[in-house]
Amino acid sequence: MYICGRCGKEVKSIEDGKFVRCPFCGYRMVYKTRAPLAREVSTD
Ligand SMILES: [Zn+2]
Repeated sequence: MYICGRCGKEVKSIEDGKFVRCPFCGYRMVYKTRAPLAREVSTD
């Protein structure tokens, strides 16, 4: 799954895995999201 770097929407379908583009705004910079790793460490 990807997250658009512009509108922040989730991008599920990508074009052949070559060019990842946001289908909503057409932005070509999307961030790859991984499975949540529960690595949020609170240093309190
Ligand atoms: Zn977008």
